Order: sequence, then C-alpha cells, then structure tokens
Amino acid sequence: MPNTHRLTTDILIIGGGSAGCMAAIRAKEVAPGLVVTIFEKGDIRRGGTLAMGMDALNVVVIPGVTSEDDYLAAVHLLSEGIYDAPPHRVVARRSLPLVRKLESWGVRFGHNEDGSYVLHQIHPNAPFTVPMHAPDLKVLLAGKVQELGVRVINRTMAVSLLADGDAIVGAIGLDVRSGDLTVCAAKAVILAGGGAARFGLPNSGYLFGTLDFPGNAGDSYALAFRAGAKLTNMEYTSNHAITKDVGLPITSTAIPLGGILVDSRGQPVARGSVGSPGSYFQQSAKVWREHGAHGPLFLSVRHLPEERIKYIENILFSTERPAQRRFLEQRGIDLREQDVELGPTEYKLCSGHGMAGLVVNERAETSLNGLYAAGDAAAIPFQYLTGALVMGEVAAEQAAKMAHGCPAGAVDEQEVAAVAGAIAEAARPRRTAEVSIHEFEYKVRRIINEYVAPPKNEWKLQNAVNWMRRLREELRSIVRLGDAHELSRSLEVGCIIDCAELSATAAAARKESRWGPKHYRTDYPDRDDEHWLKHVVLERSAGNSIAVALAPVSWQAGGVSK
Ligand SMILES: Cc1cc2nc3c(=O)[nH]c(=O)nc-3n(C[C@H](O)[C@H](O)[C@H](O)COP(=O)(O)OP(=O)(O)OC[C@H]3O[C@@H](n4cnc5c(N)ncnc54)[C@H](O)[C@@H]3O)c2cc1C
Repeated sequence: MPNTHRLTTDILIIGGGSAGCMAAIRAKEVAPGLVVTIFEKGDIRRGGTLAMGMDALNVVVIPGVTSEDDYLAAVHLLSEGIYDAPPHRVVARRSLPLVRKLESWGVRFGHNEDGSYVLHQIHPNAPFTVPMHAPDLKVLLAGKVQELGVRVINRTMAVSLLADGDAIVGAIGLDVRSGDLTVCAAKAVILAGGGAARFGLPNSGYLFGTLDFPGNAGDSYALAFRAGAKLTNMEYTSNHAITKDVGLPITSTAIPLGGILVDSRGQPVARGSVGSPGSYFQQSAKVWREHGAHGPLFLSVRHLPEERIKYIENILFSTERPAQRRFLEQRGIDLREQDVELGPTEYKLCSGHGMAGLVVNERAETSLNGLYAAGDAAAIPFQYLTGALVMGEVAAEQAAKMAHGCPAGAVDEQEVAAVAGAIAEAARPRRTAEVSIHEFEYKVRRIINEYVAPPKNEWKLQNAVNWMRRLREELRSIVRLGDAHELSRSLEVGCIIDCAELSATAAAARKESRWGPKHYRTDYPDRDDEHWLKHVVLERSAGNSIAVALAPVSWQAGGVSK
C-alpha cells in the first residue's frame, strides 16, 4: 500500500490555477483565521492556463458603456440559449471591481487618453474585452497565495473526492513524484482543476502540444462525476483556429486588432476590426467550411500599419507565448510579409472558451453539499478568465461561510482504504506489460478524434462509448507503468476516458445540431429549439453508469427576451 499522510483543513482547493489561486486569496481575505490548503498537480508559480499571463480580460462590463443585459445577450448568442443567467450576472457585476482589484495589485490595463478603458470586441454584440499587460499574473497570484499563509501542496494530484453521505468532506491527493497519498479532510472543497485540455489528439500528434494547459486532463469532471455531482454541456466539443504545428493562439489577438483570415487563394474569409460588430465566433462555422473547401486558412496582418503590427507582435510574443516568436522566426515568417498558416486545435472540453462543466449556481455551489466549483471546471459558458477569477472569489466566500458554521465531516476510512487499494493495484509493478502509457494515451485520444469529435452521429457516439469501456479495462491490464509519474499519467488517462464517455453520452442524447461545428450531427443536421432548448445533464447512476436528464435553461427570468 502507498505511504499515506493525513491532513485537516477548513477549505481544500483542488487546482492552483487562475480560479484556485483567486479562491485561496479571497478565502484568506474574508476569513484570515481559516486554514486553506491547495492541492496543485504541477507547481503553483506557473501552473495552469495562466502560466505565461494573459493579454486581456475578456469580460468586463463597464457601466455607461455596456450593461449586464448586453453581456447576457452576448452569452445568449454564443451559447445559443443553453445557459443560466444568474451566474453570468454575477460575473458581469463583479467584473469591473475585479479589474480595479487587479490594478491595485499592479496589473496594467489599457487606458485611453481620457482615462477610460480601452475596449476590444470579441463578443458578437458589444465590446467587453479590456487588454492588459500581465505576463506575470500567475506569479503575482501565486505570491499572494503564499504571503497569505495558504498551505500549498505542489505536485499533488487529487485522485478522489471523499464523501460523507451526500456531502463532500475532503479529497485524496497523490504525490506525482513519490507516489505517496495525502488524505485531506475538509469542511468545504473547491474544485478548480480546469477543463479537459488533453482530450482530442492535436494534429501534430504531440500529446502535450495542446492549446490549453496540458496538465488539465479532465480530472475535475471525472472526479466530480464519480462522486455523484451533476455535469452539463459535455457535448460541446470546442476547438479553435491557431498557428498550425505549434498550438499557439493567434486569431483571438490579431482579428479584433484588424487581422483578417484569408484562404489559400488569398480571398478574405472573415474580417474583424476594433469595435466593429464582426465577430470571430459568429463566423466559426463559415471559417471551418472554408478551411475544408479552400483551405488551409491563413491569418493576414500585412495590410495593417507598422505600429499596429508591432502592437500585435508584442502581445503574441509575450503573454500569448514567447514560443510564438521563436516558431515564426525559425519558419522565416515576418508578419509584414507573410501570412501565417492556421490549423484547428485538438478538441477539448472547458467553459472558459466553451461550455462544459459541473452544474453550478450563482454561489458556485455544485449539486453536492460542501463542493463548490469555479473556472473551467464549472459550466458557466464562455466565462473566460474573468469568470474564473470572479467565481473563484464567490466560491471562496461561500466555502468560508460554510467552514465557519459546520463541524468537519467524517472521513469514511473504508472509502480511503478502497482508494488506496485501487491506487496500489494500479501501481502494481507492470514493467513487462506490452503498451507504454504514452502509446496508450495516444490511442485513447485518437479514438476521441474519430468518434467523439464532430461530425457526430449515433453510430460513432455509441461506438465511442463502447471503446471507452474497453479502454478503461485495458488501462488496468496491458499498460506498462514504471514509476509514480507514469502512475499519475495512467490516472489522468482514466479521467480522459471518463470525459470521453460523458461527452459521447451527452452528444448522443442531444438529437439535434447546435453551436455550428461544435456539436454537428450528420443524422440530426438542424438546430431544433422546440425540443432542445434545454440542458443535457449527466449524473452517475447505480452501477456507475451515466444517467441522462434534461433540465430547463433559466435565462428567461434573467431579462433576455426570447
Ligand atoms: C490559450 C488560451 C488563451 C486564453 N486567453 C484568455 C484571455 O486573453 N482572456 C481571458 O479572459 N481568458 C482567456 N483564456 C481563458 C482563461 O485563461 C481560462 O478560462 C482560465 O484561466 C481557466 O482557469 P482555471 O483556474 O479554471 O484553470 P487553470 O488556470 O488551467 O488551472 C487549473 C489548475 O488545476 C491543476 N490541476 C488539474 N487537475 C488537478 C488535480 N487532479 N489535482 C490538483 N490540481 C489539478 C492544474 O495543474 C492547473 O494548475 C485563455 C485560455 C487559453 C487556453
């Protein structure tokens, strides 16, 4: 059996990324006396999507310029009606105070000469995006976490939530280097482990060559589902256009600043400019059609003035990854003279740029007592970094209230023994098994590309479910594991398999097409609002199978007209 350490805490945060750090900071702000602990799979200093900072907060509602209702109208368009208004209202309402708070910490946002905020438009109806210069935002957040006395346990991957009846009372973490376990009893748990970046296989074939942080392997969704929480929008399989071969974002920065997409004949495909109503999102279906018909597509900024190109380069080569500069230089590409070939990213599940996640309300409460979720783990469609930071704070405020008012739940020792036994079984030396974990993950994700990703149909989705059940068994029997790191990789692959089964099951349930190419079903090619303006909600049922239910969307009461 693995070595097992014991801890108690008031609040346990799983994932020290954007949402997790902000949750820890807020918990200490509102209740400095509480013990707050973070399990972080990597290292909190640079772990997560925010690793190299960000160039903008994509959702900022500035009274007098835009309103909460404008923002809800944007979410309505992007999600095609599949969202609940209350959490979005909270994100909108707290977005400007968030900007002010970050400014007070030294983050620089774009200002016009009259002092107003610079606004870019990436949403379909209005400008909500405020550019920021924050290459070290993650380091700054991590520093604050540590200054405030939060206990950070790096390189510890949560592998199971602990339940007491229908309440979550802690989690078990695995040290990804030593293989030791930490059983952490908590009065409240905040799940902030991001989305499933490692889901579909990138075109490059590199397992870790993903657009989003590759340490996010859908652990949040899998752990929550196994513990009995409800998930929704898992059928929204998202992908984006990026710099081909390197998995780096480019269009989301360059198009709002006047860049255009052109096809292989040099014909413009989608045009956007600062403050114009043109939106990349609205054009997404057209973009992928063109990619198929006259592709590949290219990003072109050659027509822009030098000053604007420099501005774009400055963002692309700093917060949006220094590797972009090296990549373009090595390919001999100067944005003034050449266009950049684009390609689609791998398919992924998240709610920052997508819709998938745990069902949460405006208090970040999940369907399980004592369990809160924030960031890409929680299904608040297109919440971006703003949503992760705001809802991280909200989750912390609620968790702190709960931790003040309740005794610690009882950790069920039988449950702990069962998890430790399963880990010991998984870690059982299998040095002679035939398949490496690397090859196995490749196969799982290739099958996700073939059967879970769009275009979808009943046969493919059912086949995906069958494959995932088979792969789950094979993961236990034919995969070679040499050390604790490979053990953690195999547990991640278990999460990817669970996410694929969840996504295929939800997609099979939604018998229509929606969200352009993201959920395109060849057997139900049309959007059908009459029957499908609903959430598809997944929950574990007896025998560990997936129960599917439909739930109403709750924006009607939120002020968006039908
Ligand atoms: C390329 C890219 C560019 C973006 N640009 C912008 C932008 O300019 N503006 C904007 O508003 N939004 C942007 N976003 C969206 C935004 O960054 C994300 O929505 C947000 O950062 C998600 O935060 P998170 O805390 O949920 O996830 P993360 O910040 O990724 O944190 C998750 C953390 O959980 C850890 N973890 C995972 N599993 C476990 C486990 N089992 N146990 C312990 N720890 C675990 C991971 O190591 C990681 O540190 C961008 C996203 C991407 C991918």
